[in-house]
Formats: sequence, C-alpha cells, structure tokens
Amino acid sequence: MGKPIEKIIKTLEEYYKNFEAPPVVRGSPPLFQLLIRTILSARNTDENAVAAAKLLFSKYKTPKEIARAPIKELEKLVKRGVFYKVKARNIKKLSKILVEKYGGRVPNSMEELIKLPGVGRKTANIVLSYGFKKAEGIAVDTHVFRVVNRIGVVHEKTPLKMEKALLKVVPKKYWLNFNHLFVLHGRNICKARNPKCEICPIRKWCDYYNSISS
Ligand code: SF4
Repeated sequence: MGKPIEKIIKTLEEYYKNFEAPPVVRGSPPLFQLLIRTILSARNTDENAVAAAKLLFSKYKTPKEIARAPIKELEKLVKRGVFYKVKARNIKKLSKILVEKYGGRVPNSMEELIKLPGVGRKTANIVLSYGFKKAEGIAVDTHVFRVVNRIGVVHEKTPLKMEKALLKVVPKKYWLNFNHLFVLHGRNICKARNPKCEICPIRKWCDYYNSISS
C-alpha cells in the first residue's frame, strides 16, 4: 500500500522546524561554495567537506583563481576525505568551464550542471534546490536513500532509480524541502547504525519499524 507521504512530510516539517540545516548547506553559502562543498561531500562526512572547502576558499576565492591554481596545491587543500585527487582535478576543470562558458557563475539548470566534471544529479539537485530554490528533482544522498528505503516510501536499489520513483509519488510542492527533511532525519534519528525508532515521530508509517515490532 502507498505511504501517506504528505503526512510523513508534514510530521517531519513540524519535528525539525527548529533544527539547524545540515552542515554542507548551513549558512546559505554562495553558489560556487555550495557547489564545491557538495562535490567534496561525496563519500565524505559533511564536516570534512565543509572543513576542506573552508581551507580551499581561504586561499582561492573565485573560479578564476581555482582554475589557475596548481593541481598539487588544490589536492593538498581538499585532502580531508576520500578521492581527493579526483575531486581536486574535477574542481579545477569545472572552475575553468565556469570561467570560459558562464562568466564565472554557476549555471542554474539541471541540464547544464550535470555536464560539469564531478557533478551528478545529486549535486545538481542540491545546488538547484538550496542555492537557486528551484525544484527540478529531489537530491537522493546516502541519508535520503537509507531513510526512504526503510520507511518504504519507495524501495529502490540505486539513488537514480529512487529519485525517479520519488518524483512520481511526492507532490511537487514538497520537492524543494524533501532532501532537507530526510537528511535531518537520517542524521538525527534514522541513523545508519541503531536508528532510534522508539522516539521516531513517523514510526507508525515505517516498514522497518513495523517489521521489527510485530
Ligand atoms: S521508525 Fe526507525 S527505521 Fe523507521 S524512519 Fe523512524 S528511525 Fe527510521
């Protein structure tokens, strides 16, 4: 049976109304910084990604400066976390494209964003929803993927398939805030290990909870 998705979202909205935003998007960083933080957060903790981005921007502020920076220097600055060499290379290439093609600005469409090196749908969705306040999709990161599958809003094996499925069952007016709510829930209650089901405000609608409590 389909889940009462509006009730689930409204319950989470109420529960998290006074919570701080997740670290990568906290403080509404400028668009370029948001993009870089999100790239650095892939397979990394938010805290590491934000710290690495802070170090990078303490030395190089604009796409133009990063495009000209020596790659070894960039690698050193973003070293916190995995795949830092690939990420440094992508950040340099992407900065060059932003300078040459977009006058140093971050483009504001899914189509353009996913053509940038190291930018997939998740990163593009984060930049579009948090940066441009545009809902072209739903960012499915590790928290969204885990929480949605546990509840059983949809059951999917890859983030890409999950996004497609979510776009069919989540009314468009909730797309913009969906990632925010589910990331907060994943970070605070529905943790990867030992989810705190006993205090979860949406447990009555959750497949996982119903399977362990029946
Ligand atoms: S009941 Fe448990 S598994 Fe379900 S959403 Fe809440 S914390 Fe996660």
